[in-house]
Amino acid sequence: MKVKTPYAIQDELSKMLDFLASFGATENNGVSRLLYSSPWIRAQQALKEVMHSFGFQTHFDDVGNLFGRIEGTVEREQVILTGSHIDSVIEGGKYDGAYGIVASLLAAKELFQKNGKPKKTIEVVSLCEEEGSRFPLSFWGSGSITGKHHFDEIHSLTDDDGIPFKKAMAAAGFGLNNYPNPRRKDIACFLEVHVEQGIILENSRQTLGVVSHIVGQKRFTITLTGQSNHAGTTPMNARKDALATACDLIHHLTNKAKQQSDLVATVGNIQVKPNVVNVVAGEATFTLDVRHHQKETLTTFCSEVFDYFHKTTDEQNIKLNITQWMDDEPVKMDETLMSKMTKMIKKEKIPFRQMVSGAGHDSQVFGTFCPTALLFVPSHQGISHSPKEYTKPEDLATGVNILTSFLYELAYT
Ligand SMILES: [Zn+2]
Repeated sequence: MKVKTPYAIQDELSKMLDFLASFGATENNGVSRLLYSSPWIRAQQALKEVMHSFGFQTHFDDVGNLFGRIEGTVEREQVILTGSHIDSVIEGGKYDGAYGIVASLLAAKELFQKNGKPKKTIEVVSLCEEEGSRFPLSFWGSGSITGKHHFDEIHSLTDDDGIPFKKAMAAAGFGLNNYPNPRRKDIACFLEVHVEQGIILENSRQTLGVVSHIVGQKRFTITLTGQSNHAGTTPMNARKDALATACDLIHHLTNKAKQQSDLVATVGNIQVKPNVVNVVAGEATFTLDVRHHQKETLTTFCSEVFDYFHKTTDEQNIKLNITQWMDDEPVKMDETLMSKMTKMIKKEKIPFRQMVSGAGHDSQVFGTFCPTALLFVPSHQGISHSPKEYTKPEDLATGVNILTSFLYELAYT
């Protein structure tokens, strides 16, 4: 299939992105579109109308994922699913998630108008939730489709205003058995395009990133307990200073992370007790977030770092407690889809690279469920989750064009 000149769709793309950004628009030119909120409902309804006007069959599932379907003529039960998430963070930008939905809509529309019905069924999906911005749960949309999430998980969840998850869902019209159960067994593959949310593509002057892996993440809370004491009368060699020891551990782990290619380790939060100028700290608690795309590297890094933690705290007479509360494994994208996509990009002579995603995406949930491909376009200055999020219109259009050709190859040939 001949790829269109980017200019042909730039206009339509930016109009649709602006249209979507109007649902939940904030004073600072940002977007706040939280799950089951009024802007969220209006955005999903508006998208349903757009899908309908393109000639797609539309339906919601019982958690609020929206689908626009073009039924295949040969393999109807082998659905090629493409899309991204409609929810945003608080004061987010207009590209995160929304771009993937708009790209999929325009690609599917173009193919349907030019070539009629595909051999395999194409469905464009506007996933109800990915960010975890309203309730303490993320990937509710993709997780419900793939069976990672279930209704029984949400009973005790409330948002910051104390509104129960179930109540918010019911107020939006979902979770009441009015729509089909979200669980699907007919998905042949999932394709997502997304803004990079990092600076790698822009720095290397490349237009597209073919994602090979989405990083695994481990998160911990580490508490050191020593003894609070007088800052003036306690000699240095008689102290059990939890904060001084914490500094040693943080310094060690940060240095070690720097020596490891592609690994990132972050201590983003530290709490000290009693947190007083003239008292030796009796307790220090810090968080640790470690990410890499190879499971073994992650595990080895953590175990070596924790060996050092144990040794050091023993020597300094400090009690150590390590609690792990996240253990998401790295997810590999499908190699066949990746190589097909790469071939297509090379043919069009578009500057690209293969890369790892350091951020989480719906593709990581689909990636353990069905063959999945994730394609990035650049984020200006790497900024995301901010009203300043920006991607050049020509780059956005290139992403749509590649998705269109890719969908054509998978569904029509
Ligand atoms: Zn996103």
